[in-house]
Amino acid sequence: MDNATRLQYLEAMGIDVWLPRADDPLAPNVIAESADSWEALQAEVAPCTLCDLCKSRSQTVFGSGNKNADWMIVGEAPGQSEDRQGLPFVGKAGQLLTEMLRAIDLDREQVFITNVVKCRPPDNREPKSIEVETCKAYLLRQQALIKPKIILALGHVAAQALLNTDEPIAELRGKIHTLNDTPVVVTYHPAHLLRSLLNKRKAWKDLKFAMQIVKNHQR
Ligand code: URA
Repeated sequence: MDNATRLQYLEAMGIDVWLPRADDPLAPNVIAESADSWEALQAEVAPCTLCDLCKSRSQTVFGSGNKNADWMIVGEAPGQSEDRQGLPFVGKAGQLLTEMLRAIDLDREQVFITNVVKCRPPDNREPKSIEVETCKAYLLRQQALIKPKIILALGHVAAQALLNTDEPIAELRGKIHTLNDTPVVVTYHPAHLLRSLLNKRKAWKDLKFAMQIVKNHQR
């Protein structure tokens, strides 16, 4: 049995697993290991039935990209194309997101892209708050594993879920918020930008703002 599976069994039995720190002088031969892992998380998300969205999805959409990324990009929920392919932002909005990233010299393989909920809501409706709350633990575990320098929230659903607020996007843009000490910047959802030229300019401003935060972080 591999270690991730063993840890999952122990967790399911309610047993807290304490792993020795690599720098513990009493454990010189122990390799640093965290209690959570990508393998454990992916194994939990794939068959998830914690909310009703599991009934209508074809598959969960975990996220894609660099697991050590500086940028974590968070959208709302998978749409039809994402549900089919099992990958986030692969439809029209995804093409625009790719272009937005290119505009700040990033490609999709450099960032980690995911959604607040990992399953497609029926008829592409907004996820309900119970679905967001249920799925949020997975998102927070992704954040803890990636340790990004910035989180970019796309649209009001992602922004409100990450920041635990019901403030509108106009109030949330242009500010540095935080989630577990990681700066969070809010911008418009690419699906909205496909319909609004005016807000495309504002989104460009948001991206430059986020880029500046990452640069300052590197100093
Ligand atoms: N819209 C989202 O919010 N996420 C996707 O993955 C695709 C479209």
